[in-house]
Amino acid sequence: MKEPLTNHFDVIIIGTGISGLYTAFHIDPSKSVLLIAKDSVVNCNTRKAKGGMAAALYEPDDPTSHLEDTLKAGGYLNSKKAVDVLTKEVIDRIYELADNGFVFDKNPSSGEYNMGLEGCHSHRRVLHSQGDRMGVAIFNFLYEQVKSLPNTTFLEHTELLDIIVEDNTLQGVKVHSSSLGETTLYCHSLAIASGGYSGIYKRNTSDKSFFGNVLTIAYKCGIGLTDLEFVQFHPTVFVKEGFETLLMSEAIRGEGAVLLNPQRKRFMDRYHPDAELASRDIVSQSMWKESLQCKSQDFYLDLQPIGKDKILRLFPEVYENCLLRHIDITKELVPVFPGAHYSMGGIYVDLFGRTNIHGIYAIGECSCNGTHGANRLASNSLIDSLVFGKRTADVINDQPSLDHTPKKQPPPSFYSSIESPFTIQQIQQLNWDCLGIMRNKEQLEKVMSLLRPFMQDPYWQTSSEKTTIDACQLSYLIAQSALLRQESRGAHYRTDFPEENPQYSHSFLLQKASDSCDPIVRKINYKEEK
Ligand SMILES: Cc1cc2nc3c(=O)[nH]c(=O)nc-3n(C[C@H](O)[C@H](O)[C@H](O)COP(=O)(O)OP(=O)(O)OC[C@H]3O[C@@H](n4cnc5c(N)ncnc54)[C@H](O)[C@@H]3O)c2cc1C
Repeated sequence: MKEPLTNHFDVIIIGTGISGLYTAFHIDPSKSVLLIAKDSVVNCNTRKAKGGMAAALYEPDDPTSHLEDTLKAGGYLNSKKAVDVLTKEVIDRIYELADNGFVFDKNPSSGEYNMGLEGCHSHRRVLHSQGDRMGVAIFNFLYEQVKSLPNTTFLEHTELLDIIVEDNTLQGVKVHSSSLGETTLYCHSLAIASGGYSGIYKRNTSDKSFFGNVLTIAYKCGIGLTDLEFVQFHPTVFVKEGFETLLMSEAIRGEGAVLLNPQRKRFMDRYHPDAELASRDIVSQSMWKESLQCKSQDFYLDLQPIGKDKILRLFPEVYENCLLRHIDITKELVPVFPGAHYSMGGIYVDLFGRTNIHGIYAIGECSCNGTHGANRLASNSLIDSLVFGKRTADVINDQPSLDHTPKKQPPPSFYSSIESPFTIQQIQQLNWDCLGIMRNKEQLEKVMSLLRPFMQDPYWQTSSEKTTIDACQLSYLIAQSALLRQESRGAHYRTDFPEENPQYSHSFLLQKASDSCDPIVRKINYKEEK
């Protein structure tokens, strides 16, 4: 991999998942682009995606139906404008990928794309690639394309430390790189594509190398964060001490697998008429309630009702992956429990990825333009990166190239070194216990009072244990967002406010105040958008 020979770029992209790669793919070849990955380029959640990409390609489906399903899943908190863009423009993005050589699975007899049916979609509209290997397939395809572009450089094992802003305009970034040490890099456009924050929970499906701390860095330089309280928990995550977590997809329950409680008894029919086939949030919340009753989180997925032949035919990869974890799913129970899976909230952007700071953009799971509302519809996130990645690249392409003489040297970012009393594991446990599938005022206030000290000024300027302090600050902001929302909607469930309340059909935007540790809170009402 080429090392950068300069510290001036037209465009810097933080993240090498689908959002970063696809945006880079669309940047004008006349612009120099640097892509940064915290760990290796392959450490991203994009590669973990098994299912697919939703697009209303064939009748009787159409973008309006896709839009309706997305709004319903999102508890109608979504920006209808953003969903309209998503569901219409995804069709062009899919055909464009295919024209560039990406292979979606086809039905050999009709020659049409295979369209899978997924929960909460009214039509068969989910495209697959290499069966259930969409994530790896799209990552490999885009990585190969972008790597071959002469204007593009990759920098791995490099962490974003700080964003330099002057007069509400981007100047550059500070990074720590294993090869270059701590360095300042200058650019006219910064595209943040750093993924979600589900890794901030003890149980999660995320890559272990990151947990969303770029959101804290963005917040520190004055960028607004929104919808942070909405974290999607996937109900069936394989959990076994000493092994990486593994997602047991809805399709497995769709084929007849059942959930068992710690007494190895079925329980879901006591919570919802659709039992195991209820929506993700209902199943996760039911498992949580059942675990409190049983005083245990030892739950199981039993695949035996599906039958051995069908398991091997339909789920060969799951079978192999579970064998690697010493479980034979054709005859043994699979230990599962919900895990944090997707973050609906993030860096507040418009429909072209623009933040409130000139020159800074955000795309994909780290961003929020209201597309997903209170809960993401399955197979809508990879396409979110495609649609809004292209729109963001178009805006960046219109920017003048970098003036290679920045006005002033940026001030040093770090001048104190304060210890964090918590480890990252303790923060993840705290979030799991108090900020997780079900929350209440008492738990949220506990998180806030424990973490409030880290919102004070010195903690925004510290070099020591920066990552842990970022985690404390982000957790505080999630807790504050969850406390503000005194209702239950989508993925956000308050045991003290179990009903949806129309008074809260807006989003909360949090922005750093200069004179107080509490953020400035604004309401965003997508329904009032022009
Ligand atoms: C198990 C699993 C299955 C899924 N299945 C599907 C599916 O079938 N369909 C679907 O639509 N979605 C699915 N999703 C969701 C989807 O995969 C993600 O939302 C999407 O891939 C996010 O892409 P991204 O480019 O925004 O971020 P990621 O792919 O997560 O990439 C994040 C990048 O940011 C970099 N980064 C992070 N922090 C820093 C830092 N401090 N400094 C420098 N770099 C940093 C990382 O190194 C990485 O390169 C699934 C997710 C998981 C976990």
